[in-house]
Amino acid sequence: MTAPTQQPGLADALRRAARRFVTGVAIVAVRSGDRTHALTANSLVTLSLDPALVGICMRPQGRMRPLMGPGRRFGISVLSTSQSHYARHFADVRRTGAVPLLVPLTADGPPLVPGCVAYFVCEFAQVHPVGDHDLIVGAVVSCGVGTEGDPLAFVDGEFRGGAG
Ligand SMILES: Cc1cc2nc3c(=O)[nH]c(=O)nc-3n(C[C@H](O)[C@H](O)[C@H](O)COP(=O)(O)OP(=O)(O)OC[C@H]3O[C@@H](n4cnc5c(N)ncnc54)[C@H](O)[C@@H]3O)c2cc1C
Repeated sequence: MTAPTQQPGLADALRRAARRFVTGVAIVAVRSGDRTHALTANSLVTLSLDPALVGICMRPQGRMRPLMGPGRRFGISVLSTSQSHYARHFADVRRTGAVPLLVPLTADGPPLVPGCVAYFVCEFAQVHPVGDHDLIVGAVVSCGVGTEGDPLAFVDGEFRGGAG
């Protein structure tokens, strides 16, 4: 069988085209023992309403991926235009500088960004390898919306809608 013909430079073209797709920005956070680990993600997708399922694509080589497994709860916070510092911090592999505050809604809940425009508390449900990423499927346990601020947007490689 012959391999399908591929556009030359497809990976770069895909990156350029995808940068034109406006997304929101979320912080995914999980507790592991007495430590919290979080990452910035714009791959959040609502997969199903009933049952309530959301998905996030993650690099398998990152520190977050092994923390996602059966029985694990994680928080997803949708950032506002005044919270781009969260996105920058948790996208930096070195996580340098002061750690922005993450607070659980309940004593045993996963960490969330205070004042975020929306949140989802999820329980790990499934994982699907998809090319060079893993699609983590979370069963939504609870969710809600904030009362302040507009959602932060990410487009053309930049944060939009706030101080940037
Ligand atoms: C707007 C925005 C949206 C994003 N959306 C997503 C998303 O949806 N999914 C996603 O997976 N990422 C996304 N990222 C990138 C992600 O936030 C960062 O890569 C973050 O550091 C990932 O955390 P982690 O714990 O998974 O990986 P980390 O452990 O922080 O590692 C990050 C990457 O660096 C590599 N790495 C780790 N240590 C080293 C080292 N010492 N030397 C060289 N390389 C190293 C890892 O293999 C991994 O690929 C986004 C970033 C931005 C700015």
